[in-house]
Amino acid sequence: MSVPTVTLNDGHTIPQLGFGVFKVDPAETTRIVTDALEVGYRHIDTAAIYGNEEGVGRAIASSGIGRDDLFVTTKLWNDKHSTADAFDAFDESLEKLGLDFVDLYLIHWPSAANDRYVEAWKALEKIRESGRARSIGVSNFLVPHLTRLLAETDIVPVVDQIELHPALQQPETTAFARERGIQIEAWGPLGQGKYPLFEEEAVTAAAQAHGKSPAQTVIRWHLQMGNILFPKSNNRTRMAENFDVFDFALTTEEVDAISALERDGRVGTHPDEVN
Ligand code: NAD
Repeated sequence: MSVPTVTLNDGHTIPQLGFGVFKVDPAETTRIVTDALEVGYRHIDTAAIYGNEEGVGRAIASSGIGRDDLFVTTKLWNDKHSTADAFDAFDESLEKLGLDFVDLYLIHWPSAANDRYVEAWKALEKIRESGRARSIGVSNFLVPHLTRLLAETDIVPVVDQIELHPALQQPETTAFARERGIQIEAWGPLGQGKYPLFEEEAVTAAAQAHGKSPAQTVIRWHLQMGNILFPKSNNRTRMAENFDVFDFALTTEEVDAISALERDGRVGTHPDEVN
């Protein structure tokens, strides 16, 4: 069964399920992304700071998959928010990826202490105008950052990529973003393996009822919540498991029981602490 797409506020579409490469060793990235593409993933989420854009690019180049059948995201790092640095960083990312354009370019963190994310966004607006990023968005932006961006710039981000999993659903940010046509991308969708999500009764009971694994159940919860996600695994068997989620659906009760696992359980860093 094919991966559903989500239509962004600029008319482009994005596969709702992709593959993320945070902490994927640069030396192993080509092999791992090649595995992911062979499994069927067509949406890859990387970032300049991951240091593995070249490996992603090599896997894409050797895959034989048509460029228009792929969706590639990369991100601008925090020390590159000045206009000149943002342009240079974008050129460098494109070169490392070996691509003429990316599908989505994100500001990685607001880095509010540096107070330059509005300037960075204006650079991204120009990059989008040039056609070398088809869509632009943000990551780790909370309501105050989104509010300021919308007030001071022209283009509404297509997505906000934030930490999101059953223990941390960020209701305030997701509601604010969705009301303004900004789609939510969930990073750390499996809680980065840092808390016993897969042992929660709500997850194991639903998994058992559908003959699926806890990871598949959590991925299905995200899909039914309308989140875009790209779980990461270096292991091809798990990549395939995480992709095999389109032949079942959770009931409303099962979705609600998993949503009830909310406990403000952040596993990553709070956006105010990353500069
Ligand atoms: P994740 O929630 O996808 O967790 C990955 C970990 O879950 C794996 O390392 C593995 O330990 C475990 N796992 C994966 N599949 C499993 C399975 N089937 N069964 C059991 N365990 C399994 O965490 P993530 O990689 O941090 O997040 C996904 C992607 O989000 C990243 O790769 C990256 O692209 C993006 N991300 C973005 C930001 C940001 O600041 N914008 C931050 C972190 C991650």
